[in-house]
Amino acid sequence: MRILVTGGAGFIGSALIREIINNNQDEVLNLDCLTYAGNLENLAAVSSDNRYQFSQVNICDGDAVRQSIHAFRPDIILHLAAESHVDRSIDGPSPFIQTNIVGTFNMLASALDYYRQLDGEQQESFRFHHISTDEVFGSLGPDSLFTEESSYDPNSPYSASKASADHLVRAWHTTYGLPTIITNCSNNYGPFHFPEKLIPLMILNALEGKPLPVYGDGLQIRDWLYVEDHARALLTAAKKGRPGETYNIGGHNEVKNIDVVKTICRILEGKVTDKPVNVNRFDDLITFVEDRPGHDVRYAIDATKINRELGWQPIESFESGMEKTIDWYLNNRSWCISVQSGNYQRDRLGVIK
Ligand code: NAD
Repeated sequence: MRILVTGGAGFIGSALIREIINNNQDEVLNLDCLTYAGNLENLAAVSSDNRYQFSQVNICDGDAVRQSIHAFRPDIILHLAAESHVDRSIDGPSPFIQTNIVGTFNMLASALDYYRQLDGEQQESFRFHHISTDEVFGSLGPDSLFTEESSYDPNSPYSASKASADHLVRAWHTTYGLPTIITNCSNNYGPFHFPEKLIPLMILNALEGKPLPVYGDGLQIRDWLYVEDHARALLTAAKKGRPGETYNIGGHNEVKNIDVVKTICRILEGKVTDKPVNVNRFDDLITFVEDRPGHDVRYAIDATKINRELGWQPIESFESGMEKTIDWYLNNRSWCISVQSGNYQRDRLGVIK
């Protein structure tokens, strides 16, 4: 198949492209404008493969998107390009509105234009797959789970922009008949995760003997999914999912933020022999800081539907995925230095002054 991926230089998009090139026969076009979060180094292992091509395109540029889709002639579009960090959406929502909402509109408009020119058989197999988040459903109480029927109730500028995009995708299916799939996934972790996110931030701060800033009381619960499990789920949903359907993807790993940080500290204790001089135990570095405004308390996914209908389930447990992730960060310090060479220096973001 010919697969067009947007946002393929980011954390999840690059895992998806590595999965396609390493474990499948498909051809890939990666459309990415390379924001601070997009790094072609994430694709170094596959970029010389002749089934892979890259084009630097901003999805806010409707003409460039249209040209790329018509020239590549994809069988499937997997749309991941987005501004993805909640704290940044609090400090500056504008790029979230542009990329996540207007950019998704551009993708839909061009995909529909292209879809209408396909013959019947090609239309039958074409899919536009939009990659979304469980954050669109808002915050959960202690017991329930998000299902595909959960109401939309987004609380941050990031989740509101992703919810808007989901609604546009749904409307392009019901109004115009574009064969769309939406997946809503829980928090991902794993290799190549930009260090502004909780898990890589904690690993890198610990290795440098810096404070480990835990927001609020640290009791917020997230359901963690290893990124390579997500990549496999996306390909499964794109190839086998039914048009117009949404599928929730989760890792069956509900963990409190404070326990994520303690797990990192425990695994590092067993692996790091040359601790920074100021560190006796890594968990001494844990520091509680002001909470994120509007911080959702709990997200948890019921991933029964994708398992029952499409046969996907995660391979990694939280413990095995964290071991792999920490090993990767210990062995790839040059990547960590390289991606932080711009403005971002692991400062606190997303506090309303
Ligand atoms: P990321 O921030 O690591 O990567 C985003 C990629 O999109 C980058 O390569 C960036 O350069 C590109 N991009 C941004 N704006 C663009 C634009 N205007 N035009 C073209 N390219 C642009 O994000 P991620 O964590 O890999 O997330 C990918 C997708 O998955 C997003 O849609 C996100 O909402 C969704 N998602 C993420 C998670 C998670 O835990 N990370 C969970 C569920 C869903």
